[in-house]
Amino acid sequence: MLEIDGLTKIYPTGDRALQGITLQLPRGQVLALIGPSGAGKSTLIRCVNRLVEPSGGAIRLNGTDLTRLGPAGLRRARRKLGMIFQEYALLERLTVMENVLSGRLGYVGFWASALRRFPQRDVDEAFRLLQRVGLEAFVDKRADALSGGQRQRVGIARALLQDPDVLLVDEPTASLDPKTARQIMRLITELAKERGLSAIINIHDVALAKAFAERVVGLRSGEIVFDGAPERLSTAV
Ligand code: ADP
Ligand code: ADP
Repeated sequence: MLEIDGLTKIYPTGDRALQGITLQLPRGQVLALIGPSGAGKSTLIRCVNRLVEPSGGAIRLNGTDLTRLGPAGLRRARRKLGMIFQEYALLERLTVMENVLSGRLGYVGFWASALRRFPQRDVDEAFRLLQRVGLEAFVDKRADALSGGQRQRVGIARALLQDPDVLLVDEPTASLDPKTARQIMRLITELAKERGLSAIINIHDVALAKAFAERVVGLRSGEIVFDGAPERLSTAV
């Protein structure tokens, strides 16, 4: 369970990106975060894993306030937060398998993956995940040889190898064509359900949010302006 309580972020520039966000994400729930550019979606996701330092409020993951953790605690907590990025953030010159294995190190350790030997059980689990996302034939291909949709599948497998509690997904489809975008959203939401993971998916395509998420939260100017089932979403957000 992830609980965000009165979260604020004021950037050094004075931008008030989050103005007191409170929401609770129960275990297993898939939430889409929508809103216009500049609404604060990225800032919210990045505050949860502390790529951005919150200015105020609390973020509790299974009871632990992430905003109060020191470096070691934060490293541990981040293993429970699986990140999936718009631009994939793959290691381009490494293979698909090496990229997925880097998930074991948490994203702070991505660069170290080529230098490490991983236990066979990690390799087996990575292979199972690659089968599940449909990339078993690409295990030894270099990341820079893949299409956008294939790269995002690698990103998904990498996040899942971390064995996270929560998936934090930042605009996963913004660089993809519409058909591939739907496939990727389907894959992320199905895998979250299969594994009982909660997910926050930052997506500004409202139709995709409605099609795949069970709950939609609308942000505008750093505030929640909608929180409910996708069917209740009017065009007002
Ligand atoms: P998106 O809407 O896809 O999140 P943005 O164009 O808002 O993309 O932001 C792109 C990058 O620039 C992000 O890393 C964001 O943190 C940073 N950024 C956005 N707005 C500002 C700003 N006013 N000053 C400095 N950096 C910014
Ligand atoms: P979204 O993801 O919804 O497009 P962002 O979280 O990127 O929104 O941005 C929210 C607000 O914070 C915007 O006004 C943006 O300009 C500002 N912002 C984002 N990143 C930075 C940054 N690194 N420095 C200063 N302002 C930023």
